[in-house]
Parts: sequence; C-alpha cells; structure tokens
Amino acid sequence: MKTGANQQELERLMELARKAAENSYSPYSKFRVGAALRLTNGETVTGTNVENVSYGLTICAERAALVRAVSQFGPGVRIAAVAVANLNGTASPPCGACRQVLAEFIEPEAAVVFPAADATRTMSFSELLPLGTEMKLK
Ligand SMILES: [Zn+2]
Repeated sequence: MKTGANQQELERLMELARKAAENSYSPYSKFRVGAALRLTNGETVTGTNVENVSYGLTICAERAALVRAVSQFGPGVRIAAVAVANLNGTASPPCGACRQVLAEFIEPEAAVVFPAADATRTMSFSELLPLGTEMKLK
C-alpha cells in the first residue's frame, strides 16, 4: 500500500471518480473520464473531462478537479490522493500534462489509483513523475 490513503479510501475515491465521469462533456472522443482528489484538509473534490471542438483546448478530468480544488479552497491546497476512472473500460493513467500540473500541489508519496492495461493500479505520485515535485523556481 502506498502512503496517502488506505485501500477503502481509494475505493471510495474511485467510486467518486466514476460518478464524476458521468458528467463528462466528450462529444468528440466519447471518452468519459472522472477524477477525484482527496486533499490534506480532508475534503474531496471531483472533476471530469471537458472537450472542445478545438481539440487542443480540451481539459482532462484531473486538471478540472485541481482547478476546482484551488478555486474552492485556495492556493494552499495539497493533494493526498488521486483516483482516475473512465466509463470506457480502458486504461487511463494521468497524462503527462496532468502529472506536471498535479506536481505543483501534490504530496510526493500521494497514492494515485487509475485503470491500467491489465487492472486497476496504485502508484505513488513520485513513481508516476520522478522528480516532478522538486521543480522549483528560485
Ligand atoms: Zn490529462
């Protein structure tokens, strides 16, 4: 078990992520994704992917949830655990852009649970993006 959340908590987060995916706006890809973040303040925030006809403007569920968390709780939010789910029955680990954006607010040992090619997988954030939380501007 990775740090940041116990198994029961991760299952609850996965369920919230699946529920958030039901709100997906994905008329182009039909790829319905949800994310749930557990914050260190004990709160949970969800997000879903929102596509755009100009494809590059699409925002992923993970970043949508993060933007919501900062909007709701302020710039000091810290992420303790992340769950990603989709309604398409396929793998959906957080994309590179989301990993970089999450790095700004996440604990290095936060658990990240997501559908992988074979099964649901749990990894620490530092395994997903080594050195990601060490990037700082001086
Ligand atoms: Zn992404």
